[in-house]
Amino acid sequence: MRFLPVFLDLQTGPVLLIGAGDPARAKLRLLAAAAARVRWYATDGNHDVSGLEADAARIEFAQGDPVAADLSGVIAIVCVGAGDVGVAMSARAKAVGLPVNVMDDLEHSSFIFPAIVDRGDVVVAVGTGGASPVVARRVRERIEAALPARIGDLATFIGRWRKAIHGRIPEFALRRRFWERVIDGPIGALVLAGRKDEAEAALKDLPDASAFAGAQPSGQAEGRVTLVGAGPGDPDLLTVKALRALQDADVVFYDELVSPEILDRARRDASRVAVGRRVGKPGIGQDAINRLMIEAAKSGQRVVRLKGGDPFVFGRGGEEVEALREAGVAYSVIPGITASVGAAAQFEVPLTLRNEALRITFLTAHKAKDAESVDWSTLTDEKMTVVVYMGMTAAPSVRAGLLAAGRFPQTPVGVFARVTRPDAQAAVGTLDELPDLIGKIDGGPAILIIGDVVAHSAPWRHSQLTQLVSYFQVAAE
Ligand code: SAH
Repeated sequence: MRFLPVFLDLQTGPVLLIGAGDPARAKLRLLAAAAARVRWYATDGNHDVSGLEADAARIEFAQGDPVAADLSGVIAIVCVGAGDVGVAMSARAKAVGLPVNVMDDLEHSSFIFPAIVDRGDVVVAVGTGGASPVVARRVRERIEAALPARIGDLATFIGRWRKAIHGRIPEFALRRRFWERVIDGPIGALVLAGRKDEAEAALKDLPDASAFAGAQPSGQAEGRVTLVGAGPGDPDLLTVKALRALQDADVVFYDELVSPEILDRARRDASRVAVGRRVGKPGIGQDAINRLMIEAAKSGQRVVRLKGGDPFVFGRGGEEVEALREAGVAYSVIPGITASVGAAAQFEVPLTLRNEALRITFLTAHKAKDAESVDWSTLTDEKMTVVVYMGMTAAPSVRAGLLAAGRFPQTPVGVFARVTRPDAQAAVGTLDELPDLIGKIDGGPAILIIGDVVAHSAPWRHSQLTQLVSYFQVAAE
């Protein structure tokens, strides 16, 4: 992000507009719509402002050389198709620290115009850092479609009541809950339906604002913990519910496996606390994590416990839920896409397949001694797909265990690393070759999938094709 979206109050001074023709008039219209005072250097001398008669009093026609203009009091400079004048103005503006925009010229601009969704008090600015206005416009169209038409009325309505409610609910967290309930409940629905008077009456008639906000007997907001599955890495694989929980969170306790792109989806003001193990460093430990979550929830915060994949698949979610239950803290669990399911979709491994794979086993083999404690004799059914989490280091023991139990050395195996992330990687081969396959992977996290279904996967098909091609090449030589 090179350009930070901010909203400029245009009533504090004039904006200098330099340029001519339709593009300059378009900017004039935009500035006028925001009630700006505009000092316009029409570089072709045409001062026609038809269509803007209502704003004419705020438009001043300037004469002379804009590069020599008096800049005192000016709050921003906009150059549209002004050629060299634009470049010279940019240098002057930058020298005195004034924001300047030269149309279609990033190098000489210190601010750029976003695509705008304008619904009265609700304004959405969409930017692409100047890279592609067309993409910005497409995003804008989607936002336009998703926003209720009267969302601006809702903001205005709340704006009018804010002070009064501030007096009645001094505590910040509780006040936020109050407005969320107004927005998400019948009062908000009335405003969005254009029935403002009824909404007004309903808000006026609320007997106890704090109780409406869900205050506890202590007067505090009710805290709770949501265990959220973050999926294997791609932020677009978050569920709608997970996204909502992240947007509501006051604090997020996250694991090392959670990607930064996913953490970015949390509410800006939420505090973020890393609690997982890091490479080479131990984590703060499960008891400490439980304690932190319980303390935060008891102080009225909305806590999100964000975990890679699914919280209940090798994620210790079960223990956390137990601790929360014992502490009497309200909680809920939002599932996530577990790594094996992410790998299956990305690399086209049908985990079950008619007649070929009728069962799936998920197991963990963190260390060789874990692998040794697995009863491999229960995993020899050829129609069973075996998925091993945390199995990179213990891969040789996994191989040894399965072979000793009688599973076929030629059983197809895949190692799938960093699945659904931009640097995802796969290596496929046979059970016999498993340790070599691990060697082909440039780092975890990775899961192993063992079973005939791996022969249907995209990397397997690809490797068969490559072998065939090299066979013909050798034959031709
Ligand atoms: N709760 C998680 C699993 C946590 S255990 C889930 O449901 O996916 C950690 C193990 O998960 C890793 O050692 C690895 O085996 C697997 N894993 C997690 N994310 C992964 C990813 N993006 N690609 C491959 N394996 C992953």
